[in-house]
Amino acid sequence: MHSSSAARSVRPRGRPVRHPILAEVVADKLRQQIISGETVDALPRQEDLILEFGVSAASIREALRILQAEGLIAVKRGSVGGAAVRPPSLDKVAYLLAMHLEAAAVPVEAVVHAVRQLDPVCAAECARREDRRVTVIPKLRRIVEDSRKVIDQPVEYAALARRFHQELVLGCGNKPMSAIVGVLEILWTAHMNTLTRRPEGHGLLESREARIASLDEHVAMIQSIAAGDPHAAGLVAREHLNEIGRTNLLGQHLFVSAGFVRDAAVDPYSPEP
Ligand SMILES: [Zn+2]
Repeated sequence: MHSSSAARSVRPRGRPVRHPILAEVVADKLRQQIISGETVDALPRQEDLILEFGVSAASIREALRILQAEGLIAVKRGSVGGAAVRPPSLDKVAYLLAMHLEAAAVPVEAVVHAVRQLDPVCAAECARREDRRVTVIPKLRRIVEDSRKVIDQPVEYAALARRFHQELVLGCGNKPMSAIVGVLEILWTAHMNTLTRRPEGHGLLESREARIASLDEHVAMIQSIAAGDPHAAGLVAREHLNEIGRTNLLGQHLFVSAGFVRDAAVDPYSPEP
């Protein structure tokens, strides 16, 4: 027999059915509104949320704490308005991944190795795109033009070189792939940005010759992509990234640091908040 009384009789005693607490219900609702884009800029004020959901101020505060911990809102102290909305971004994914990798004492070199394997795949995908001359090429060309202007400024050049690779990853045209490789790029960029600002230097793109070679290879990558040659694009990208392996940076036995990612990451893969 399958009646509710029979079901009740087999439930272990002393274990009540767990109902999600009100704060979680409120947080679920607000989270859905943020993710769907229904709520942009800011949440309603706390007083209005209390009225809207018909729950206590404590439940609303707890719901806001849940969303804050997820990085979906920022509550400003002393602000009279509602909490600012932060759409889900890959920065947060990169930060979580960095914590995971830091806990396992993973060297930065391993991140670079992963990027080196996956970036060429993205370059090849860019070359396969029918619409590459409209969607990918103009952006890459603009970055190369800007890079040429700062060829004598190592820090500025390095930043633009990272942007070139980020644009390549975005250009692959497949969202899950862009997201996965993008997270690794954010991780690598965050470490690069932090290390390039150190006064002792790091050896990567420090010499003018290295920057000129890097720029020439970026141009060669654009040419293979424009020509619609995935094999050549992947090959040029792979050889280009092998250069990173020959720098001092990776001879320093640096480990992934979540703090670097938290402080330096800028997510170019998600829409602006
Ligand atoms: Zn490059």
